[in-house]
Amino acid sequence: MKISVLTLFPEAYSALYQGIIGKALEKGLFSLEITNIRDYSANKHKKCDDYPFGGGAGMVMTPQPLHDAINAVDPEHKAKRIYLSPKGRRLDQDAVRALAAEREIVLVNGSYEGIDERIIELDVDYEISIGDYVLTSGDLASMVIIDAVARYIPGVLGSEESTEEESFSEGLLEYPQYTRPQSFMGLDVPEVLLSGNHAEIKAWRKKKSLEITASRRPDLLKKNKEEGV
Ligand code: SAM
Repeated sequence: MKISVLTLFPEAYSALYQGIIGKALEKGLFSLEITNIRDYSANKHKKCDDYPFGGGAGMVMTPQPLHDAINAVDPEHKAKRIYLSPKGRRLDQDAVRALAAEREIVLVNGSYEGIDERIIELDVDYEISIGDYVLTSGDLASMVIIDAVARYIPGVLGSEESTEEESFSEGLLEYPQYTRPQSFMGLDVPEVLLSGNHAEIKAWRKKKSLEITASRRPDLLKKNKEEGV
């Protein structure tokens, strides 16, 4: 899989070159191409923003550098082109899985008050939001997407980790996890997890998943019911 990022802050992505995602990039399990939008500005000062028509606070990213940068990294429009935006579809695990099935994605990051609307009309397939709050740029949102998507790329997670039994995998939040020591600050690991009885452990985990989901995210249970999960 190839992920292309268009940004005014290419240095920010150094954060991805560590841990599990950093190792996957080192091994070439997916490729990450970071492009500085400013490099495509035809303005002699490499300016990429201007005042909004109609007035109002802040600046808006001009269309020319974005249009040229997007079409330089994806000249034949083979990739899914996504603009990170608080107005987009809210990211969830289903959307992450769908993105992970793509061969190529382009992540377009806004800054200031956002980007000229014509770029969304001309060059973007759809918009994604990572939540109902406003960030200063799309870059943290892009990094969230890259991390979440990369976990579905074969080989990225070691055999000891898996996307199969974690939160949202079956529309439920995950059961509680414990490790050594067996007793910590007077709190003991639940007996069933020490029993070696796999059927009982599985049943306990399912029960806990349902309890936690019901108390913290009843909306997920409702969604499962509607979808017949
Ligand atoms: N004026 C815009 C609005 O009210 O919808 C907000 C612009 S925001 C300050 C600057 C950039 O951050 C946006 O162009 C977008 O790329 C990114 N951004 C902000 N919040 C985001 C979110 N919740 N999800 C994804 N991207 C976001």
